[in-house]
Amino acid sequence: MIHYTPIIQKISSKLLSEKGIEVSVLRLDLIHPQISGNKWFKLKYNLEEAKKKGVDTILTFGGAFSNHIHATAVACNQFGLKSIGVIRGEQESENNSTLSEARKYGMQLHFVSREDYKRKNEEDFISELKNKFGKFYLIPEGGDNLLGEKGCEEILPKENDFDFIFCACGTGTTFKGISKSIKSNQKLYGISVLKGEGPLNSNASIISDYHFGGYAKHTQQLLDFKTNFENENNILLDYVYTAKLFFAVQELISKNRIAANSKVLVIHSGGLQGNSGYEERYRLRPMRNVNDIQG
Ligand SMILES: *Cc1c(COP(=O)(O)O)cnc(C)c1O
Repeated sequence: MIHYTPIIQKISSKLLSEKGIEVSVLRLDLIHPQISGNKWFKLKYNLEEAKKKGVDTILTFGGAFSNHIHATAVACNQFGLKSIGVIRGEQESENNSTLSEARKYGMQLHFVSREDYKRKNEEDFISELKNKFGKFYLIPEGGDNLLGEKGCEEILPKENDFDFIFCACGTGTTFKGISKSIKSNQKLYGISVLKGEGPLNSNASIISDYHFGGYAKHTQQLLDFKTNFENENNILLDYVYTAKLFFAVQELISKNRIAANSKVLVIHSGGLQGNSGYEERYRLRPMRNVNDIQG
């Protein structure tokens, strides 16, 4: 459905030339106009598995702005599968752009309270959903399962000579998949967008200093960085993941945490569909003169 050809784009800045570091961006945000970024890799083997099992409906979980919900709706639509999204929180966000689009692609939305949403991995809650919706193939929140991880092993280009690879971490599924596909002389850093998390193994570690207050939170400093980055590089970022990721990369380089003459790859995992909902929610009016608006 998506024939993946990695698109790698070099970026430049005064800082990078001063430090003698080469930074390239893996543009997963460009792999598909709607199913952007890492979410496709997490869905791919799950959708195949559902088909193999002869199940025609996917059920999954997410918040009202979830990139995973959006991607699942579009991918199921294209894959000839029905989809059900169990959405956390109240119905007031039911017409935001993420959920309106999901509905447009045929996803049936089922809103549950925050308390019920916490039960999403409990057997009795899942049986209640089975009674209500009939047979379905369940994909956990964020596509966080082994098949999701397996898909993410295919993100890195087969031939690559990067010393450092950076990705954003939510559930960590993408990070785990990539960590299985790096070479022994490569180092993977996951930038956590949530509070908490810790190191994995010596070749791959999670950095927890760049959550900016927690999931889907921000500071003015992050907003300013995002605007500057977008204007300088003509690459749009999302608020929840990639703005924090690129901020972290810049800061680690400026603090000499990355050796001179290194080659760095930063994975742009997409997520741009969430920006308009995020801007509405926080009443942000970003200054932007980027022309390469995707999707
Ligand atoms: C979901 C998402 C992530 C996080 O992926 P995980 O596998 O959950 O860690 C990173 N970036 C973007 C843009 C995302 O939508």
